[in-house]
Amino acid sequence: MSGSFRIGRILGIDINIHLSWLIVLVLLTFSLANGYFPTAYPGHTNVTYVVLGFVSTILLFVSVLLHELAHSLVARARGIPVHAIVLFVFGGVSNIEQEPQTPGVEFSMAFVGPLVSFLIGALCYVLLFLIRGNHSFLVSVLSYLAFTNIILGVFNLIPGFPLDGGRVLHSIIWKITGSVQTAMNAATIVGQSFAYLFILFGILQFFYGNIVVGLFIVFTGWFLLSAAQSASTQSILETAFAGVLVGQVMTTSPVTTPANISLQKLVDEYFLPQGLRSAFVVQGDQLAGLITLSDIRHTPREQWGQTPVGLAMIPVERLHTVTAQQNLKDVLTLMTGQDVNQLPVVEDGKLVGVLTRDAILRSLEVRRSLGLSQNGKA
Ligand SMILES: [Zn+2]
Repeated sequence: MSGSFRIGRILGIDINIHLSWLIVLVLLTFSLANGYFPTAYPGHTNVTYVVLGFVSTILLFVSVLLHELAHSLVARARGIPVHAIVLFVFGGVSNIEQEPQTPGVEFSMAFVGPLVSFLIGALCYVLLFLIRGNHSFLVSVLSYLAFTNIILGVFNLIPGFPLDGGRVLHSIIWKITGSVQTAMNAATIVGQSFAYLFILFGILQFFYGNIVVGLFIVFTGWFLLSAAQSASTQSILETAFAGVLVGQVMTTSPVTTPANISLQKLVDEYFLPQGLRSAFVVQGDQLAGLITLSDIRHTPREQWGQTPVGLAMIPVERLHTVTAQQNLKDVLTLMTGQDVNQLPVVEDGKLVGVLTRDAILRSLEVRRSLGLSQNGKA
């Protein structure tokens, strides 16, 4: 995911933090230091409250991480590879790269996350009981963690994608009806209904004067709504393209240019006459790279005559490439995840075609109008 960086590795899974989380870290630390701690633990200095706010926010972060690790470890135990976890503003996302094969696997993968949050909450309450009101700063931190973890568990059980509750609901309907598609449709409708309820409730809060809370709830609803929509789009694409290979959808004979011509010649003889925005660069019969309008713009115009294309291009090592035998379904995940519009299709280093978003959409249209989109009959 762009805008995130790696902070470490646990049990072979990369732990990444999205930049938005740093903003939350600052906001939450100061809102706890100004609001919660002065009330829960009165009579101390501002510095103490900021430290307590910071420690509590980090502990909450660790709680979210444990929740995500639980998803990832259960997925891995069921044979589904997990490479990374990204922690961002709404919590975490596990990069689980494959859909579960049975409803049972999906249920246990989804349910274990909120379960861990509830267990952390319960553990905090047990600790609170054991210290019986002594060490009041510890009481204030533990109470906060107990409460937020329970809320985290409850929020994630809301039955809408991409929340865990949406997956739990999906797995149950899948088990009962035996159809992934029916389960997806039902889970999407329930998810959207919850999203609208959030938005409605948030607007009401707003008009009752709870402006910040209202806006936050509206924003959460909007997030749930767009997530439900993209989950259903993704599922439509995956159903439509089940069993379809890259080679069946790619455009053969894409525009190529030799690596040794100058940028000036490239502009005059390729880009301007054909209205191109990019072209693949070849050296002999091997793919060498990709040249785009912005690579050309990065070279001063007076140097276009002397600069060979091979020097200004993005070299092939920095491009994602696919093969004609790959499943389109898996490649779609790559294209969406990396936000790329076209992928070179390569065979033994030779460029055999290009896979573009446009071609995928056109193929989807044709498949749908011919009724070829169900059960992987390509
Ligand atoms: Zn979860």
